[in-house]
Amino acid sequence: MSAESGSSPADESGGGPPLGRPDGTGLIASAGRSLPVLSNAVEVAAPSRTRQTELGVVDPRKPSWLSISAAEQERWVTEVAGQPKFRRKQIEKWIFQQRATSFADMTDLPLALRERLAAEFSIFTGQVVRHQISKDGTEKLLLEFPPMGRHGAGRIECVLIREKLRRTICVSSQVGCGMGCVFCASGLDGVDRSLQVNEILEQMLRITGVLPAEERLSHIVMMGMGEPLANLANVLPALEVASSDFGLGISPRRITISTVGLTKSIDRLLEVGKRYQLAISLHAPTNSLRNQIVPTNEKIGVEGIMEAAARFKRETGRRLTFEYVLLGGINDTLEAAEDLADLLAGQDALVNIIPYNPVAGLPYATPSNHAIARFRKVLEDRGVVVKCRQRKGDDIDAACGQLRRMVAKSSVEIANGS
Ligand code: SAH
Repeated sequence: MSAESGSSPADESGGGPPLGRPDGTGLIASAGRSLPVLSNAVEVAAPSRTRQTELGVVDPRKPSWLSISAAEQERWVTEVAGQPKFRRKQIEKWIFQQRATSFADMTDLPLALRERLAAEFSIFTGQVVRHQISKDGTEKLLLEFPPMGRHGAGRIECVLIREKLRRTICVSSQVGCGMGCVFCASGLDGVDRSLQVNEILEQMLRITGVLPAEERLSHIVMMGMGEPLANLANVLPALEVASSDFGLGISPRRITISTVGLTKSIDRLLEVGKRYQLAISLHAPTNSLRNQIVPTNEKIGVEGIMEAAARFKRETGRRLTFEYVLLGGINDTLEAAEDLADLLAGQDALVNIIPYNPVAGLPYATPSNHAIARFRKVLEDRGVVVKCRQRKGDDIDAACGQLRRMVAKSSVEIANGS
């Protein structure tokens, strides 16, 4: 992923969260602790790996309350705990709006119910391994989730991007990525597993937890590690909660799903009917070029993607958004720009140009400003709307997948405060 701003096609919606001072000072809470926010890029010591069972915060042996559906939660509340069903909404409100990280915090629930919940469920199952804060206000968490089945512990990244009134979270959908885009750090070791609903929601809650009390998340971009359309089974229920009034209350207009272009899943998204924004990572206008950069293109093809995009536009009436990572000397040429303009002219499309964010060990180059401007002009002259993303969090390896690799490479141990 690239933790870069100006990325959401929901941008036009404007507005924002009720906010206080976005000046990066004050105290933030991380994983249940208050930590000082420093103005320069820093790494905040992760909390102790010791399980915080006394707080009821992390106990991977218990399933997360967030891993069961609303219907299952309601059944548990009424049939197992013998409580009225409105208790479920109370619990939801505590977790998503009042930032409760333990059932013990939920003071308006009967004590017996709190104890029963704590005995059977956890809320978070992950650990914060690293917490980095950039001097531009971008924050990044490296989370580790416990082993699952044949899979070992899984590390993923999520990022908070601060921009004026906007507070955007960049969310991961998988541990690693199976798409193999040649310039991307997330897919270098392939995909290990898909993240579960509660693991996707935990990223949102943990990032909410680093915001001051008077701020909340305003936008979600599924642009972290992984291919969200390869994990719709977990991504959709998580976004359902994120967009519900009792969850984070973020309008689907402000939620963007970014995809390499899995056309069947784009159609599936349309069937579901929830109108999230879609961004398609195109990166090349022709099959010969795209096959070199995005291996999955061999199965789908640029035509297949454009047809799926047209169906999406027809059904939703939304402007098409394409992401285009500019790789110096590869897809930033005049010819590529003209081919892209041919492909998109007259389509009411927005192209998000993302200058390549260097990944250690990969041979690609960020294009020169001249090449970026030339590429942009060719498109604009043909009526294609272009946005060039501002880089965010450069000093904290914010291009997703990078931090995870850096930490693994230097074999830095999980901070162990115990
Ligand atoms: N699998 C989804 C989400 C991936 S990350 C997708 O392909 O869209 C979101 C965006 O970041 C994608 O457009 C991806 O191509 C881009 N990206 C990945 N690595 C990058 C890098 N090193 N520099 C710039 N952008 C990158």
